[in-house]
Amino acid sequence: MKPPPRKLHIKSYGCQMNVYDAQRMVDTLAPQGFVETANADDADLVILNTCHIREKASEKVYSELGRLRLAKEEAARAGRTMRIAVAGCVAQAEGTEIINRAPVVDVVVGPQSYHHLPQLLARAEADGRAIETEFPAEDKFGFLAQPKAASIRARGISAFVTVQEGCDKFCTFCVVPYTRGSEVSRPVAAIVDEVKRLADHGVREITLIGQNVNAYLGDGPDGRSWPLGKLIHRLAEIPGVTRLRYSTSHPRDVEDSLITAHRDVPALMPFVHLPVQSGSDRILAAMNRKHTAEDYRRVADRFRTVRQDLAFSSDFIVGFPGETEEDFSATLALVTQIGYAAAYSFKYSPRPGTPAAEMRETVSAAEMDERLERLQGLIDSQQSAFNKAAIGTTVDVLFERPARNPGQVVGRTAYLQPAHVMASADIIGQVLPVRIDSLERYSLIGELASGAEMRAQHALSI
Ligand code: SAM
Ligand code: SF4
Repeated sequence: MKPPPRKLHIKSYGCQMNVYDAQRMVDTLAPQGFVETANADDADLVILNTCHIREKASEKVYSELGRLRLAKEEAARAGRTMRIAVAGCVAQAEGTEIINRAPVVDVVVGPQSYHHLPQLLARAEADGRAIETEFPAEDKFGFLAQPKAASIRARGISAFVTVQEGCDKFCTFCVVPYTRGSEVSRPVAAIVDEVKRLADHGVREITLIGQNVNAYLGDGPDGRSWPLGKLIHRLAEIPGVTRLRYSTSHPRDVEDSLITAHRDVPALMPFVHLPVQSGSDRILAAMNRKHTAEDYRRVADRFRTVRQDLAFSSDFIVGFPGETEEDFSATLALVTQIGYAAAYSFKYSPRPGTPAAEMRETVSAAEMDERLERLQGLIDSQQSAFNKAAIGTTVDVLFERPARNPGQVVGRTAYLQPAHVMASADIIGQVLPVRIDSLERYSLIGELASGAEMRAQHALSI
């Protein structure tokens, strides 16, 4: 017999992997009768899928739990039971401490155990509480329910697929190796099946994700271990897959099959997120990045040799312990040499249990603010120059959804720039050439290039 419908609200913080995990939690709870609701206050189950990467991210969870306590009391007064679960990396890092700080929480589940959510909820219903933060021996992916066709369609034409999890790099500032465990790759066949299913139900763009996605080494159907480049070749053969991306890569794991995939696979987009963190060799060594600034420049050159139109984005940390003005200048110099299409920059945040949190030579808050502003200023100017360069050119856009402005449809270029055109929503899911006329903040504005409209109509009629 079908279980009665229950409302599930899930809020995800942090990285793309959490977005993927949240969708898989929804899929896994669907057979239990859970349907998603956008409103936390009338949900029977609220899951906070948390991020522990910086202090601010962790603290957001506790303020949200404070708000949810009131919603749970209100639900109880109305005769309803609201259960609250904390999932993700804060759950993994803090375990029972979460319940001590926020007794309103019923379930705590780490990122490797969320396939056990139905059992954990049953335990919480019977015993009041359930906590699981071990790294189970089984592979959770083998136990997660597949999304229904309607859910895939509702999620749009772009999808994330986790191919690799965990990290063995142990950068001294980072909690990921402790919260996500060591590097594990999913088998090729499981990824091919998942991508086929997504493509069959209208997904056109797949982003392969992993904490160190290019450390991917999965069991291949030929009994060998396949690197990421070989996996990409295979996925590009799946009918319906028009664009492939991957994120996040580590500069040390860029092996030749990935470079040649950029040369040989047209579906692989020429936009690579390649975090460097700092341009100073002294700081890179203190961060345990195991590469120098020159190593990074050489890796960037290898990519650009096979595809001159390839663009990079990156991550930077300012104010790592001991960072001097000279170290910071080396970061600015590296940014100038590489030239980024986009980048994220963060103030260093000490994380409990990491080696850098014990380092004494801290950088003052004022210096961090000042450096962040200078770095972001430089990155912004590079990003605007990159976007402006698109004006007057014709670029391929994969159309995703109707825009907020009536009559407009929005899509993304190869470099993930949003692009708007006036057109019928029938073009959603297609890659069409767009003549770019202008730029509004970060969005490109243009019109379908001559012939594109004809192609769109033709596609509809066949
Ligand atoms: N694996 C990726 C790599 O090696 O670059 C990064 C994954 S991490 C989830 C995303 C970004 O968060 C990092 O690239 C780094 O810039 C930032 N980050 C990680 N720990 C941090 C910390 N303690 N303080 C500030 N930023 C941090
Ligand atoms: Fe964290 Fe470094 Fe691993 Fe990236 S490579 S997840 S920054 S430890």
